[in-house]
Amino acid sequence: MTMIKVEKLNHTYQNGKRAVRDISFSLEEGEVLAIIGPSGAGKSTLLKLIAGLLKPQQGNIYFQNVDVSQKNPSSRRIGMIFQDAALFPDTKVKDNITYGMKKLGYSRSEIKQELMLISKLLHIDHLLNQYPASLSGGEAQRVDIARALIRKPSILLLDEPFSSLDASLKEEMRQLFVELQKEFRMTMIMVTHDQQGAMLMADKVALMKDGKLVALDTPDHLYDKPPNVFAASFLGTPSMNFLDAIIHNESGKSYIFVCGEKMILPRAHHNCDVICGIRPERIRVCENGMFVGYVKKVKRDRGLYILDVVCFETELSILTNEPCNPKDIIRFSFELSDCRFFHKHLETHHALQVI
Ligand code: ADP
Repeated sequence: MTMIKVEKLNHTYQNGKRAVRDISFSLEEGEVLAIIGPSGAGKSTLLKLIAGLLKPQQGNIYFQNVDVSQKNPSSRRIGMIFQDAALFPDTKVKDNITYGMKKLGYSRSEIKQELMLISKLLHIDHLLNQYPASLSGGEAQRVDIARALIRKPSILLLDEPFSSLDASLKEEMRQLFVELQKEFRMTMIMVTHDQQGAMLMADKVALMKDGKLVALDTPDHLYDKPPNVFAASFLGTPSMNFLDAIIHNESGKSYIFVCGEKMILPRAHHNCDVICGIRPERIRVCENGMFVGYVKKVKRDRGLYILDVVCFETELSILTNEPCNPKDIIRFSFELSDCRFFHKHLETHHALQVI
């Protein structure tokens, strides 16, 4: 069932800033969408529109085919979790969690039952009579999650939920969300800077830039087949290498010239300048490699070497397990089938079918 459908959504702030431009997508029940993109791309604005905290000037939002575009947040049956657990400081944990249910007039016994269930699930049942000031960061986050989930929302919206947590707690929260999402079969949208988390948790990743949706795909497909240079450069560390290349036809065959070398293309292509994108981990350092490079810098990362290599006036990153030192001369290779090609001269720099 289509749980969320967003159609040609637009939002301009009063100062004239057009923060969301013509965004459309849909999510099926139980799907997890991660919204990523640089600061100021419009991610939070989009989430606020879906939550009902802002109203779009144009476009529509449907939850299960019902148009909720102009409805208030309280009538949208959604859970929301933001970066910092904004708990009421003078209110006990149990009352923080049940506040929303009380406001909506649920009976005492219903509230008690749901409180027990959710607090056990989140392992905070021993904290119910404490005040927020006595909680650790992780505990406060769990209380906030309990508060958002107690009414069993079918849609959960998260804005940078784990960004203030340390690495181990972040990992614990990610695991917890994967479990909760399965248990509740929630449809989830999360805005995040945590690219790794997004790639691990999400069924789909939406990449935004300047208020626009520039890519929407599964994490693997977005990583392997980015639709444009921006998406290719945004995902992955170290970033994809972008090499200037020329495609040229000779005697009925097409060749590509890249980093001073010439390779035959498996199929014909017209003459043009392209950008050849190759991920650092797809380059092999090997004695018989077709390219020669000078190692400028070497960094270690979890047992691997990240090399800054200069080859034919181009600098590129290589991720390898071959030990290398600065000033080494190395040989390396990559397969054309591992490359992604992009338009060089068009501003969109979108992907091209070259092989
Ligand atoms: P992101 O979440 O991707 O960092 P935002 O949605 O917060 O981006 O902001 C998108 C753009 O809208 C930015 O240029 C930001 O400065 C602007 N913006 C955000 N909130 C407001 C506001 N309340 N009034 C005016 N401009 C805003």
